[in-house]
Amino acid sequence: MPFLTYRRSIQLRQTLHDTQATVVTPDEEGYPELLSRWSQASEREAGAVVIVTSSHEISLVANFATSYYIPFVVRGGGFSTTGASSTHGGIVIDMSMMRDVVVDRASQTVAVQGGATWDAVDQACAKEGLAVVGATTSAVGVGGTTLGGGFGWLTGRHGLVIDNLISVKIVLADGQIKTASNEENQDLFWAIRGAGQGFGVVTELVFRAHPQRPSVFGGFIYLQIGQLPAVVDFANKFDAQATGDEGLFFGFTSRPHDPLSTVIVALLFYNGPLSAAEAFFAPLLTLEDIQNETHEMPYPEMNASLGRFRSLGTRKSIGGATFALPLDYRLVQEVHDDFAKFIRTYPRVEGSAVLFELIPYTHVAQIPVDATAYANRGPYHNFLIFFCWYDQELDMKMTSIKYAMTRRLRTRAGVLDIAGEGTGIYSNYSGTTSLKPINKPITDSIAGHEGDAKELFGKNLPRLQELKKIYDPKNMFQKWHNLLIPSTAH
Ligand SMILES: Cc1cc2nc3c(=O)[nH]c(=O)nc-3n(C[C@H](O)[C@H](O)[C@H](O)COP(=O)(O)OP(=O)(O)OC[C@H]3O[C@@H](n4cnc5c(N)ncnc54)[C@H](O)[C@@H]3O)c2cc1C
Repeated sequence: MPFLTYRRSIQLRQTLHDTQATVVTPDEEGYPELLSRWSQASEREAGAVVIVTSSHEISLVANFATSYYIPFVVRGGGFSTTGASSTHGGIVIDMSMMRDVVVDRASQTVAVQGGATWDAVDQACAKEGLAVVGATTSAVGVGGTTLGGGFGWLTGRHGLVIDNLISVKIVLADGQIKTASNEENQDLFWAIRGAGQGFGVVTELVFRAHPQRPSVFGGFIYLQIGQLPAVVDFANKFDAQATGDEGLFFGFTSRPHDPLSTVIVALLFYNGPLSAAEAFFAPLLTLEDIQNETHEMPYPEMNASLGRFRSLGTRKSIGGATFALPLDYRLVQEVHDDFAKFIRTYPRVEGSAVLFELIPYTHVAQIPVDATAYANRGPYHNFLIFFCWYDQELDMKMTSIKYAMTRRLRTRAGVLDIAGEGTGIYSNYSGTTSLKPINKPITDSIAGHEGDAKELFGKNLPRLQELKKIYDPKNMFQKWHNLLIPSTAH
């Protein structure tokens, strides 16, 4: 797209001149910092960044951009690794000044502004003895996580983030400000729970909170690869033994101080007394470990644990698939072997990881797939690939390796056989893991977030496309996943 012209940037300033919003263009101080994202690979040179402070300001920006067909994106936590919150030449609506969190202990509800991250929510809730379902990594944005569905350590007990969402305030592409809930604009509320990035800018989200005990059990364990059979054996009993208060991520990463070799990394979670946690995880805790960092801690500390992967590499990419239990040991071993080859082949990729993410799915799967736009409900779990590197020339290579790995999981990890109406793809982790051949270079816009909308939303896609005609007829919100393009995989 053409870069925002000087004339349009003056008009944008004039549009906002009576407000608290700040417009920052490429020639101005602070501009490079405002382009910064969790992954440098997803940074783009914007035509202008508007730091907004209210729904009204966002309404003015959205209406301005839509009137002139200027692409615009929303930057929440900035964790998208596919450039979904960046634009080359368009306008970024930067929500970093809209991060307030207000907890109401009496009603056990929390109102969160659209630019907040989960760590602020965790801290505010903990002061009141409460917690909300948020992402397992509290550094990521509330807006981006929630609108795509959202799961976290408390999902096993309370369901997805969207299953705990009471209402949102949302600015549409034409600038209208709406409230959506089960009582108001129900169809919009249906759509934003799973495909929200395609419908507007969410400025406030109200969540149901839950009483939370002061401490949980959790933390990392590192094990030798030789322990893999015991770990897979334990994982395969997880669905049968979990009650809702447990979580286990396990997989592979590079060995600290010896980055060319691999270790098993496991992150444990138990929301209950220490004795019960130790009993549940005994088969893992009694294995001979390289390092065991598990301990009791407040929930916000647990939820910040994965932050250790945050600072590694300057360029990062995530991708996902799903898997059903029992895992075939040979498949897990193949995932390891691929990963071991990956870290031996490419320079400075230490800190990359692949994780099988076990969180009880009972609450998630018992809600019908068509009850919300989110279509990834079923008796299965997420698999996450997290790659980090430094060299820009590796960007495309990383994406194609990620794609091959997720595709292997998709075809072999059992979900295609049992998914039912669920799609078996989490739209916030990945785009296409299409089984159809892709006859073009695999870039992050294909293997990343701009996936095949039919694969992601399944039977919910036709209704989403009808609602797009009402709420975003010019398809201004298309950078996350383009809901109007059924297939990129050809
Ligand atoms: C390290 C890591 C760990 C993760 N862990 C989890 C996890 O445990 N559970 C889980 O469910 N997901 C997880 N994710 C996926 C995460 O939910 C997505 O990456 C999400 O898009 C991040 O949101 P963000 O606001 O930080 O990102 P951004 O890059 O700011 O935004 C991502 C997308 O959301 C849109 N967006 C953001 N805020 C708003 C808003 N207020 N209104 C409208 N659109 C908005 C952006 O425009 C963009 O399209 C993880 C991702 C990473 C990188």
